[in-house]
Amino acid sequence: MHTLKVAIIGSGPAGLMAADILGQNCTVDIYEKGKAIGRKFLVAGNGGFNITNSASDENLISKYSPHPALREALSGFDSNSTRKWLENLGIPTFIGSSGRVFPEKGIKPVQVLNKIKERLNEKGVNIHYHHEFVGFNEYKKPVVEFNDTQSPLVADIFIFALGGASWPVTGSNTKWRNAFEKIGVKTLPFEASNCGVNVNWSEKFKDLFAGEYLKNIQISINHKMRKGEAVITEYGLEGNAVYPLIPFIRNSLKSEEPTEIFIDLKPQNTHQSLLMKTRGRKLKTKNYSYEFNLSKAELAMTKQFTPKENYISPERFVEILKSVAIPVESLRPVEESISTIGGISMSEIENDFSLKSCPNIFVIGEMLNWDAPTGGYLLQGCFSTAVAATNSIAVFSNS
Ligand SMILES: Cc1cc2nc3c(=O)[nH]c(=O)nc-3n(C[C@H](O)[C@H](O)[C@H](O)COP(=O)(O)OP(=O)(O)OC[C@H]3O[C@@H](n4cnc5c(N)ncnc54)[C@H](O)[C@@H]3O)c2cc1C
Repeated sequence: MHTLKVAIIGSGPAGLMAADILGQNCTVDIYEKGKAIGRKFLVAGNGGFNITNSASDENLISKYSPHPALREALSGFDSNSTRKWLENLGIPTFIGSSGRVFPEKGIKPVQVLNKIKERLNEKGVNIHYHHEFVGFNEYKKPVVEFNDTQSPLVADIFIFALGGASWPVTGSNTKWRNAFEKIGVKTLPFEASNCGVNVNWSEKFKDLFAGEYLKNIQISINHKMRKGEAVITEYGLEGNAVYPLIPFIRNSLKSEEPTEIFIDLKPQNTHQSLLMKTRGRKLKTKNYSYEFNLSKAELAMTKQFTPKENYISPERFVEILKSVAIPVESLRPVEESISTIGGISMSEIENDFSLKSCPNIFVIGEMLNWDAPTGGYLLQGCFSTAVAATNSIAVFSNS
């Protein structure tokens, strides 16, 4: 019986998951342009390493857009499945705040990667480093370059897992877009997601407050809200209350109208309860900080974007505290963002992530145009798309 030969191009979480599953029954070769696997996976592990999120069913699926395309993949392999897969690798996990799932305390990202590598090794998966995909030949076979020599890959199935546009230093540099366009596969320009926003702070404000946190706030735009925190930076704002709103901020920036986000500095207080703090007194503005329990940064930020006549009236000031309007100039560049949208259009793929125009080519992970917030959903999306592709390939290999 012919053993199916699979070439996986790209060794991020999506490519590695596909290799682990297919390594069981197929001959698998990974082609990676860098000198190491999973570099972005390691970067992801530098901060809080949210390896998936315990959200399930609709709660999980609704985090993704466009979710119809990802529904089947996420239902077929959800965060529980990811946890079981990790457990099986010898990586126990635990559920932390907001459902984020982490490897047990003390387990470093590089240890997770080493476990995956060991398993691929046991399964006989070959990893070819310094092999860069550079385009397709006239038969739509992927061509890789190694030591200045280009040659087409020989395999029955090709899986692309080349990543998005964030952090190009980790290897995912989007040069591949042109190659796909040349074989008639529609791609979309990359745009930043899960990123900071640029705000035109005054020089004085930046000097005094860059690095300060705005804690327990709620940010909103167009009736979409997110509680959490944000950090004031030289260029604007970053943080977990900002990232999930990026799709709405991005849309607003594309419109003709100026874009503003609204920060509720006191989401736990009502207007009424804040007004009670004034007890009908004519408060001096210099006492606002004490009376309303505001940090110097919060007070200065409020002042910066508020006309004086509103600022000096406690009643109006209370309203502003619940909705400080911050004009957003733009998003941070894609290279800095945690993830990106853009890449291969979802309209080009079948439910099993094969290309409609080339059924033996599969495309998985962040190189596809889908979006999700931070909190473990990005890696989960990569794993789920990888498993969906391998399920379909397993059918080939058994037939
Ligand atoms: C700072 C940061 C923090 C993050 N934190 C989290 C988190 O906590 N939780 C979470 O869920 N997600 C997180 N993410 C997102 C997550 O890391 C990515 O979504 C995920 O790595 C994407 O996986 P991928 O396999 O699609 O692509 P990648 O991980 O980007 O891998 C693509 C691979 O393809 C290779 N490649 C590219 N082009 C070629 C080519 N032409 N030829 C051969 N090989 C090529 C690259 O070298 C790379 O190894 C974070 C990302 C960043 C940047």
